[in-house]
Amino acid sequence: MDNYEKVTELARRRGFLWPAFELYGGAAGFYDYGPLGAPLKRRIEDIWRQFFVIKEGFAEIEAPTIGVEGIFQASGHLSGFSDPLTSCKECKEIYRADHLIKHIIEVPDALSNQEIYSVIKENEIGCPECGGELSEVYEFNLMFKTMIGPGNKMAGYLRPETAQGMFINFPRLLRYFRDRLPFAAVQIGKSYRNEISPRQGVIRLREFTQAEAEIFIDPRDKTHPRFDEVKDVRMKFYSQAAQERGEPEEMTFGEAVERGVVAHQMLAYYVARTYQFLLAVGVSPERMRFRQHQSDEMAHYAADCWDAEVLLDRLGWIEIVGIADRTDYDLKAHMDISKVNLKVFVPFEKPVKRQKLVVKPDMKALGPRFKGQAKAVAEALKSLNPEELEGERILIDLGGEKIEIDSSLVSYETVEEEVRGEEIVPHVIEPSFGIDRITYSVLDHAYYEDTVDGEARSVLRLSPAVAPIEVAVLPLMDRDELVRPARKIVDDLRVLGFRVDYDTSGSIGRRYRRNDEIGTPYDVTVDYETVEQGTVTIRDRDSMNQVRVKVEELCEKLEQLRSGALKFEDAGEPVSSAKEQESPAA
Ligand code: AMP
Repeated sequence: MDNYEKVTELARRRGFLWPAFELYGGAAGFYDYGPLGAPLKRRIEDIWRQFFVIKEGFAEIEAPTIGVEGIFQASGHLSGFSDPLTSCKECKEIYRADHLIKHIIEVPDALSNQEIYSVIKENEIGCPECGGELSEVYEFNLMFKTMIGPGNKMAGYLRPETAQGMFINFPRLLRYFRDRLPFAAVQIGKSYRNEISPRQGVIRLREFTQAEAEIFIDPRDKTHPRFDEVKDVRMKFYSQAAQERGEPEEMTFGEAVERGVVAHQMLAYYVARTYQFLLAVGVSPERMRFRQHQSDEMAHYAADCWDAEVLLDRLGWIEIVGIADRTDYDLKAHMDISKVNLKVFVPFEKPVKRQKLVVKPDMKALGPRFKGQAKAVAEALKSLNPEELEGERILIDLGGEKIEIDSSLVSYETVEEEVRGEEIVPHVIEPSFGIDRITYSVLDHAYYEDTVDGEARSVLRLSPAVAPIEVAVLPLMDRDELVRPARKIVDDLRVLGFRVDYDTSGSIGRRYRRNDEIGTPYDVTVDYETVEQGTVTIRDRDSMNQVRVKVEELCEKLEQLRSGALKFEDAGEPVSSAKEQESPAA
């Protein structure tokens, strides 16, 4: 069994991740988070909120998961969010056509469907299952489509990303932030993609959770006021140049910006915060890298783009976060389709005076010629740009009607005007997190095996900040005199907000193993010394060491351990012998 198998088996057996709909035969690409998985995921989301909502002051919103067509017309998902498919004419199996030619064409993405089909034909590629002939290549859109209301009048789509919720609320968000850039909004929520053949657990799902931030900034200033807080953070950058050399390069964020490795401070700041967030939830720094998109992989509008990737057993390097400077692409696209002005008026520090060429229509000449329309013609002329006024004949648009006007009917004058600011289309920095992939990475990187007294032990070395059970309370034996004080400890800890499990079944050694395996950082054992002397032991998951503390001090000590204010070794009297470690004095 490789690690992937061990971790997925553990996750299924212990209630982290269950394939969904098992009772009805299941469906690929859907997973349930069980009683341990749901709190693990929720705690990761809460740490994300700490980082990006609380500390950055971003606004969290919640938009519908179904969207109307216009949104996805503007975002490009309607026309471009599809994969090329081909199906076997014999067995009807369906394949990603570009994947079938990967061994022949290195970057099949650049080919049209017709070209992919030609490569299939020329190389006599048949169905990988039965050898049958393959069909022509066709596009399959990955969005789930539905109908809103009865009568098939209005199409709806399950959103393929949460980002659009922030874009289409841009005017209201701008007002909420009192018309000032920069500002940002985030969403944590479900996204849906009808993936072709999801076979990698929660790495590729058809319904998954994203946490996305859209940070709207003034394009003329891509510095970050708090960049100093991250400039000395060191990380491995797998830049385009480093990828050519095949080796990530370690440096500080300050250096990375100075040397132009990352495009600017604003993007570097959020890459750094992403790095710190991933460390905080327990992604291993040794199995994580930040890879810059290659120029042919970066979206044409993006100024720079970095992916956080993790190394997972069997799956290799997998993208878990993407952080991009998307420039003004999204807002411009929505302006185009919605016809709503999404520009922001940015005042100058001081108003400036500017010379302006203005049109003076000759009303004496326009009046007789255009009669009742003369006033409207004059207004239309005034609204033209200087370059539209060049030439002999000037073209105006009068409520859809195009009219040509002889330039002799207008004269010009230069006036001085006071300009208080200008309208700009904000640029967008977008960190986009895949919460399911992060949750799985945390499990994979926390998984550890050792042996105790010749017996194999598997441990999830989860950070106490994400562990689904923080303390297990274990009476040494299922006897009333031990159960009563143990129950009292459970109640006291729950009042303090601890996630506690209480377990009396099986030998104490087995209960320790069970808790090690689900990542419980501390086990509290209630034994006969509890009854006689009012003490319990706390056992540390990773070292398996135990200390003895007074019952009345237990809650406080556990709170200090949880906050990091107290080291485990200093929490109480060490319980010394190896024998005792696994079975406290009975
Ligand atoms: P994308 O919009 O494709 O860049 O995706 C943003 C993030 O969502 C990625 O970094 C992934 O972590 C996550 N993600 C994308 N597609 C899936 C999927 N099918 N299943 C699970 N997570 C996904």
